[in-house]
Formats: sequence, structure tokens, C-alpha cells
Amino acid sequence: MDLEGLEVEEREREDFAGYKLRPTLIVYARSEEDVVRVVKYARERRIPLVPWGAGTSLTGATSCEGCILLDLSKMDKILEINDVDWYVRVQPGVNLARLNEELERKGFFLPPDPASSFLCSVGGAVVEGSGGMRAVKYGSFKEWVLAVRVVLADGTAVKLGEPLRKNRAGYDLVHLMVGSEGTLGVLTEAWLRITPLPRKKVITVMAFLRDSEAAANVILGLRKARVLPEFSEYMDVDVIKALNRHLSAGLKESEGGVLLIAVEEDQLDDVLNVVKVNSQELVMAEGEEAEKLYSLRAQAAIALKAEAAGAKFLAEDVVVPVSKLPEAMMKLKQMETKYGVRMPVIAHIGDGNLHPNIMVREDASATQLFEEVARMAVEMGGSVTGEHGVGVQKVNVMREQVLRSNGERVLSLMLGIKRLFDPEGILNPGKYVEAAAASRRLT
Ligand SMILES: Cc1cc2nc3c(=O)[nH]c(=O)nc-3n(C[C@H](O)[C@H](O)[C@H](O)COP(=O)(O)OP(=O)(O)OC[C@H]3O[C@@H](n4cnc5c(N)ncnc54)[C@H](O)[C@@H]3O)c2cc1C
Repeated sequence: MDLEGLEVEEREREDFAGYKLRPTLIVYARSEEDVVRVVKYARERRIPLVPWGAGTSLTGATSCEGCILLDLSKMDKILEINDVDWYVRVQPGVNLARLNEELERKGFFLPPDPASSFLCSVGGAVVEGSGGMRAVKYGSFKEWVLAVRVVLADGTAVKLGEPLRKNRAGYDLVHLMVGSEGTLGVLTEAWLRITPLPRKKVITVMAFLRDSEAAANVILGLRKARVLPEFSEYMDVDVIKALNRHLSAGLKESEGGVLLIAVEEDQLDDVLNVVKVNSQELVMAEGEEAEKLYSLRAQAAIALKAEAAGAKFLAEDVVVPVSKLPEAMMKLKQMETKYGVRMPVIAHIGDGNLHPNIMVREDASATQLFEEVARMAVEMGGSVTGEHGVGVQKVNVMREQVLRSNGERVLSLMLGIKRLFDPEGILNPGKYVEAAAASRRLT
């Protein structure tokens, strides 16, 4: 087995979060057959193989030293949009925003919308189980993947699942792939559920808040009022300042930050009742104006990266139960004071998913603060990751969470799954479950 005829490159890469990748070779796949060849080639030579979609992982999930980096960005065809069975069949390298543009032309959409959707690949979003702004109403990729084709570690290509809403034939291997971070197989095709575009008018309410706890109180109020928004996103004042500075957003810099809540028209009064008592000022937007606000929110991490200006940039992704949001917001402020740093918060606040961003020059205190935030979430019955995954960045805290919440037996079951799928440890080794289990020497 060789790589003759495949497009290859020898150079280094860096992902969005700044992790350096030093592969021995980058190989571009254009078909599933190419993927099979590369996997067999890597396996024969015992070379680690790391799949690459678009490199927007925030956790070092594509980092590699001496690996073969399998670039799937050229497998970018939308193979079928089925407007009766309501699915789309795609290759992994399709850009997620492009896919939604195509779907919109036919009156459909694929709701999970990570803020990186204009950059990331569908394959990357599936294997990361990505969430994003609309997850509060529609869930993450977990809820939208029907079936996949995968090349396994021995080079066999298999199809898992069927493009059906209901299918109980066997263990659910499809959803084992969702969130597997390239450690169980290489995704070469996916059937994703699609749904008609909403027909009711949607209005975005922008609330300027007194403080960050007010944002949490609005969310609690909406839950009690049984309001399910299209999205509910929070950005604190430092995020707004970064957007103004780097993207000329022109947003008012109110001390408590900004909450964006989009709802169908018939729920607007309920939203206003809750928001008014917690905010200093309100603005309502529709159409292009609302889209601009949504797009600014999507670019918040880009603005923060510019703000970090080369400093260490660690994006947290913790989840807390919604009922614990006020406590979590208060504790984040206390940690800022304790460490003497600003920790700008972007949040999919409606589902308790918080992204405090740590931007400091000194490595040791960054890691310490990072782990303290993650532990706070676990202690509240939450999670160290809602959507960004684990990669290399969250190995320790993921281990702590699983051991505390689920137990050692569960971590060793997870390791067993990795070994079953990849007995020789070729696929994206030394990360995620394997690394979390190894550090406790589970066998
Ligand atoms: C500005 C910004 C905003 C973001 N906002 C969000 C957000 O709101 N919500 C969210 O969930 N995430 C978010 N992310 C994180 C990230 O964008 C998502 O996880 C994204 O879906 C990853 O896609 P990718 O194509 O870039 O994957 P990559 O970064 O290339 O890869 C991610 C992982 O998937 C593996 N992989 C990639 N393709 C395949 C394949 N075909 N088969 C097997 N394994 C594969 C890689 O090996 C790696 O382990 C954000 C990132 C950025 C930079």
C-alpha cells in the first residue's frame, strides 16, 4: 500500500486555537477510497492518523506530532437533499454555512449552528457533537445525525444506521461516532435530519443589563414562564468592547453586558415581561438588523482572539444546570478578582453553556484558572464540556468529571470502546478518552 496519486504536502499547520501541528505528511482525500488507502497506509506503518476538517477545534483535537494529517476539506459535495424523507446526505468536508444556504433555498435548515459555522466542516461538527446558538431549542448535532459512513481503523468502510427518524436495529453506533473526536473512525459521509424553516415571524430582543447575574435571572424567568426561545445568547461587557474595537460593531457598552433573545412573535410579550425588570434598556430587531446582531454574536470569539493579541487563549465550555446560573455567574466574577484577570464571558446561556475565555500571558495560572472553572461546573452537577469536546485540553478535568459523576468502571468501559474500534491505537491517539483513562492507568 502506498500513497501514489494522492495529493500530499509536507508542512506544519496551526489550528484556530493556536495548537501547532507537525505532521510528517498532510494527505488530501477526495473520496472514501482515498481515505481507505490512507488509513491502511498508516496502519501498516503504525503512524498515528489525525483527521482534519477545518481546524476550528478549540481543544487541540487535531494537534499532532509526526502524524499523517488526513485533510478531508476536498470531500465537499452535497450528495442529496431529500425533501420528502427530510434529510441531507453530505461528504464530510462541506462547509456548514454553505450547506445551510443550499437548504434554505429549498425551505429547510439544519438547526445546530456553532458560531464557527462559516468556517467549520460538517464532518468536524458531527464528530465533535457541536452545538451552538440554536441548541437551546433544537439541540446539538447529536439530535440531527441519522446515519454515517465511516472508515474504521483496519481500513474497512461501513455504513452505520439508516436515514430514518425511527430505527431500533442494534446498539446505537451512529451516536457513538457523534462526539468521538476522530478517535474511532474517519467519517466519509453523513445523513443529517433537516426541518422546514420556521414560518412564524421571529423577533430578537436585545437587552442591556445591569450585571451578569441579571442575565441569569432572565433565563430563569423565561423557564418559569415556559418560553422556549430560538436562541438566547449572552456577551459580557468585555466581549462587547472587543467586538467594537476589532469588528466596529457599534454596540453600547453597558456594564452588565448584552442578552440576545429571539422568539416567535406570539411569545414576545412573555419575554418582555421578564426582560424589562432585569435590564436598563431594550431594543427590538427583525430582518437584516436581527441578522446583523446574530452574526456579531457568531464572531465574538474572533474578536476575542484579536483582543488576546498572542496571549494564551483558553476558551472554556462548561455547562451548569440552568437553575445554578446565578451562582455560576457570581463565582466567575469572584475568580476574576482572585486571579486579577478579566475573563470575558460569551454564553449559550439558555442551556447553561458558558464560555468564559481565559486570556493571560502566564501558562501556569491560565491552566490553574481553567481547571478551577471546570471544577466549579462539575461540583454544581454540570459538565466540563457542552460542545467543544475534550481534545488534549480537557483530559484532566474530563477524567475528574467521569470519575466523580459516573465512576471508574464507566471510564474503563469508554477505554474499552476505543480499544475495540482501534486496537492498535492509530486514530488520533493520546487524546480524549484514551488520555483521560491512561492518566489513571485503567487497563
Ligand atoms: C470562532 C469559533 C466559534 C466556535 N463556536 C462553537 C459553537 O458555538 N459551538 C460548538 O459546538 N463549537 C464551536 N466551535 C468549535 C468548533 O468550531 C467545532 O467543534 C467545529 O464543529 C469543528 O469543526 P472542524 O471542521 O473545524 O473540525 P476540526 O477542528 O478540523 O476537527 C475537530 C475534531 O474532529 C476530527 N475530525 C474532523 N473531521 C473528521 C472526519 N471527517 N472524520 C473523523 N474525525 C474528524 C478531528 O480529528 C478533530 O478531532 C467554535 C470554534 C471557533 C473557532
